[in-house]
Amino acid sequence: MASAPLSAASSLLPASAGGAEADSPRSILTGLTLEELTALLAEWGEPKFRALQVMEWVYRKRVTGFAQMSNLSAPLRARLDAAFALRTLAVAREQGAHDTTRKFLFRLQDGRFIESVVIPANPALYGETSDRHTLCVSTQVGCAMDCKFCASGLNGLTRNLEPAEIVEQILQAELLTGERMDNLVFMGMGEPLANYRNVLTALTILNAPWGVGIGARHITLSTSGLVPQIRRLAAEKLPVRLAVSLHGATDAVRERIMPINRKYPLASLIPALQEYCAAKRQIITLEYILIEDVNDSLDQASHLARLARQLRAKVNLIPYNTVEGLPWSRPSESRQDAFAAVLQAQGVPTTLRREKGHDIEAACGQLRLQQEQADVEERPKAGAAAPAPASNPESNARP
Ligand code: SAH
Repeated sequence: MASAPLSAASSLLPASAGGAEADSPRSILTGLTLEELTALLAEWGEPKFRALQVMEWVYRKRVTGFAQMSNLSAPLRARLDAAFALRTLAVAREQGAHDTTRKFLFRLQDGRFIESVVIPANPALYGETSDRHTLCVSTQVGCAMDCKFCASGLNGLTRNLEPAEIVEQILQAELLTGERMDNLVFMGMGEPLANYRNVLTALTILNAPWGVGIGARHITLSTSGLVPQIRRLAAEKLPVRLAVSLHGATDAVRERIMPINRKYPLASLIPALQEYCAAKRQIITLEYILIEDVNDSLDQASHLARLARQLRAKVNLIPYNTVEGLPWSRPSESRQDAFAAVLQAQGVPTTLRREKGHDIEAACGQLRLQQEQADVEERPKAGAAAPAPASNPESNARP
């Protein structure tokens, strides 16, 4: 990324409480593309270069309030301020893990919660051991996919995230950690391809030179296997990387834990993945959670090896993170190793990702679930349906 180093300006950090506006959220500026902002400012009678000036303040200088945009006229700043929010995610909770993974629970303007996880260096995904940072972002509140092992979908889908709510996760993570995020993985809560349009707009903003400026090949989108959207993404210009949550190497096993497999069984998923690889000239990643006595047999390993070879894909093995209330558990380390050995013997590039974030419930949706359960317990019964009021961090940011 080309922007200036971040300052850890604690006065600019969003507060975790207070504020109002939960029922009439303003549009968020970070959800607009340069084209959209240019068109809007033209309607306001502003010259063409104005939009780029605003984007510079937002993404290069990282201001958190319109008042700081000192080369804009006062009336324009006021008009922007009336029309747009600039930062809306408030930190509701933060957790740090022993391996220095940091997890943020953000409260959205409407009081809902999402999670983002900062993972310092991610050799499993990128084969590097460096001081690079990967941010795991959410794309929906909840999830409709109903994967049986996953905390995110336990309460179903609440809503899609807006493009800005996706982009802002990166801006806030960078502000809060004082570090640049080198890689993004869309592996947080939600199914990114079920929120296709908003995710694509966010990707455009994250990738753009006037925006966050992260290279498309440093962005990995993970999907449970929505075949039509995989094909659609294959036809888009943006060469983002694709990871697929396989978790079962035969229909019988996959179907048991991922209902989406009934709609898009392996016979339709695999050709769509081949199309993606061909269109993007990319190697895809097959993610495979190891769940004891569910999908960890050596027979599944052989089937997985065959699929991976067919796709020339690499395989990421992830020992299952236990989720409270769910019956699944992770296999022993020796069993994990035996599973990996079958793949390796077949020449499949395989990584076994142990532990990162296990102690902070970093698995998809776990922290949010805890928070929501705590909220329900704390709130009096009559008010239980009402979301907590969102804070407006931007107002705290103004001098
Ligand atoms: N919906 C997308 C992205 C979000 S899930 C997808 O399915 O790929 C990100 C990854 O975390 C997926 O591979 C998911 O299967 C995995 N995951 C979910 N719950 C988990 C758990 N308890 N332990 C380990 N991995 C988990």
